[in-house]
Amino acid sequence: MNKSKWMASCLALITLAFSGLCMVGCQKSATQAAGHSHQYTCPMHPEVVKDVAGECPKCGMKLVEKK
Ligand SMILES: [Zn+2]
Repeated sequence: MNKSKWMASCLALITLAFSGLCMVGCQKSATQAAGHSHQYTCPMHPEVVKDVAGECPKCGMKLVEKK
């Protein structure tokens, strides 16, 4: 009796931990996927930020993706 109760709470804990991990992972990938966060910037001019790849209007260098 006691043992099965312990097993149940143990299982519940494990399930909770796993769902928590899963939620964190899902949220992470969701923000990455939904993110309009792709920004491109010039390595030499950090003030230049664009949402499409291209060239820096100031020096003509290829813009790199901002992380
Ligand atoms: Zn530049």
